[in-house]
Amino acid sequence: MRFPIVRRILPFAAVAGLLTGAAPGLAVVRVVTTTTDLAAIARAVGGDRVEVDSIAAGHQDPHFVDAKPSYLVQLKRADLFVQVGLELELGWAPNLLANSRNAAIQRGGAGFVDASEGIAPLQVPSAADRSAGDIHPYGNPHYWLDPENGRTIAANIAAGLERVDPAGAVAYRANLAAFAAGLDERLARWRELAAPLAGAPVVAYHNSWPYFERRFGFRVVGFVEPKPGIPPSGRYVAELAEAMRRDGVRVILMSTFYDQKTAELVARLAGAKVVTLANSVGGLPGTDDYFALFDVNLVRLAEALRQ
Ligand SMILES: [Zn+2]
Repeated sequence: MRFPIVRRILPFAAVAGLLTGAAPGLAVVRVVTTTTDLAAIARAVGGDRVEVDSIAAGHQDPHFVDAKPSYLVQLKRADLFVQVGLELELGWAPNLLANSRNAAIQRGGAGFVDASEGIAPLQVPSAADRSAGDIHPYGNPHYWLDPENGRTIAANIAAGLERVDPAGAVAYRANLAAFAAGLDERLARWRELAAPLAGAPVVAYHNSWPYFERRFGFRVVGFVEPKPGIPPSGRYVAELAEAMRRDGVRVILMSTFYDQKTAELVARLAGAKVVTLANSVGGLPGTDDYFALFDVNLVRLAEALRQ
């Protein structure tokens, strides 16, 4: 929704065109993020000074997004652009940015935020690994799935907002502190929810979960994809299912946008079950903000492993 506060308080004035330019305290900073997770955190940190749009939807694979012309319109108007980085959006975001006709949000500009700044990436490949196929040279980019990294993302976004809207600095710092306090409170509950997962072996469809796994203590022991982005052969599926039976792996972690049929086939052969988690905010019902993403995912995973 655009300018919710303006609409709520001054609908007639707004329609009559009495509001020209930015009024202090109203939605003034236009933020465009690549993903819904960044958008949710930007809303938390920006509060009522920002208007936030995400390019990818929560149920979409953030590696692959079709560049629509409407995104260029959003980017042209944006005051702040926020990306996940670590080459997650390599296939689509740089191109959109380059065509946005907005100098302020280009890399190095005041309006550009790479949310991965200060994140310690996992699975950074050695030079030798890089020739082995589709590997992210800067490490696994799915770092937002560790809520501790949410802190860093929020701080990066707050710093960006302060750059483009210095008048809001006090508000952004207060919102950032509130976000961090909320995270602390929930982390305690999430650790409790995750306690029964400790050491449990699971297979994941795609290599999306190393940060989530490290934080919450289960073990990803294999993937349905033989390599990131490559679908499995029949032979690979059979071997994976056999290994899962042997090692007592009862759960396959799935995201909404991967091939459900293949995951179900592996599960059937292995005597396991598929549990679909939200890869991003909005990916499943009830995952409307960054905290709810972990509430829903941890409950689903704990339930699947209990059965
Ligand atoms: Zn990936």
